Amino acid sequence: VILLAIESSCDETAVAILRGNLNKAEVLSSEISSQIDIHREYGGVVPELASRNHSLALRPLIDAALNKAGVTFEQVDGFAATAGPGLASSLLIGHTAAKAMAVAASKPFISVNHMEGHLLSPFIAGDKGILPNISLVVSGGHTMILHTKQFGEYELLGKSVDDAAGEAYDKVAKMLGLPYPGGPEIERVARDGSPVAYSFPRSMLKRANLDFSFSGLKTAVLYTISELNPETGLATAEQLPDICASFQAAVIEVLVKKTIRAAQSVQADRITMSGGVSCNGALRDAMADACKRHNMELEVCSKHLSTDNAAMIAFVGLQKFLRNEYSDMCCDIDPNLPLNTLKLRK
Ligand code: ATP
Ligand code: FE
Ligand code: MG
Repeated sequence: VILLAIESSCDETAVAILRGNLNKAEVLSSEISSQIDIHREYGGVVPELASRNHSLALRPLIDAALNKAGVTFEQVDGFAATAGPGLASSLLIGHTAAKAMAVAASKPFISVNHMEGHLLSPFIAGDKGILPNISLVVSGGHTMILHTKQFGEYELLGKSVDDAAGEAYDKVAKMLGLPYPGGPEIERVARDGSPVAYSFPRSMLKRANLDFSFSGLKTAVLYTISELNPETGLATAEQLPDICASFQAAVIEVLVKKTIRAAQSVQADRITMSGGVSCNGALRDAMADACKRHNMELEVCSKHLSTDNAAMIAFVGLQKFLRNEYSDMCCDIDPNLPLNTLKLRK
């Protein structure tokens, strides 16, 4: 089966061609046109600019994805696109384009949840299908721990009660005068700093539940910056590395400890990690160490499949296609589309 998928939920336009069956998938191409440079001067994503640029980027990107894959339009068996969550005007562009192609080709259309894309991305490169695991999803808008039992069966064990981990990275970076998106910047600057220079709060670590909170940490960083620099309220270049390293250490410690706790609570021996923040090398190292100590397997995908991409959308589309779970041509996008999870366990 060959699928073409489009991702346009935020500020990345992406098209991928995937070939696969129930056990094995092969990414034939995964093209991404990032609008980061367009939005950087505004310090965040401007919805109107994003949707306009999606419509400009999409057509050439589809051609490029087909060309790179060596696949013709006629060879595509189905078309998938992100239906949500995301920016309504951005989602509409990719979703409508994929529907239009499906109509033109008389092939099935498959609507995909962006978060299910992130969640299952660690299995794209594998050859054993989707294995049961405890999944840490850490992205710009979400921080969740799920118990993934099989495709389509997810139990939400915990989530952030305020900011997502990626959001905390982005907001702290902004406070420190680092460019958007903040995650990669903080990681880079943190390499020259000490993770124990400041002791920032490990929020909710002592609580028995598997929820997260990152807004207190963000405020603690803000206070530290103004205490150190009462005159300017801005961190100096000398202070940056230690602040970044100490902030990052606080985020990582909670993410790792709660994920391991979740795995122990359901006796899972496999952990997966996905979403943009899972690109973070220090987080990857810390999680790998913890998994080793606890005799657990860790699956993470390559970094270009961790941030927004269309290969992960194609991968979920493939799972649905193979189960004949096609979407109605009338199905709509949903900016708040919830991941289809079993009820939150308390
Ligand atoms: P969502 O998927 O929840 O809708 P999103 O699509 O914006 O949100 P992603 O594209 O998965 O999120 O990830 C982007 C986030 O990942 C940003 O917050 C970014 O700062 C963060 N990020 C990217 N690379 C790193 C890194 N190396 N370290 C920490 N954070 C990172
Ligand atoms: Fe995302
Ligand atoms: Mg993004």
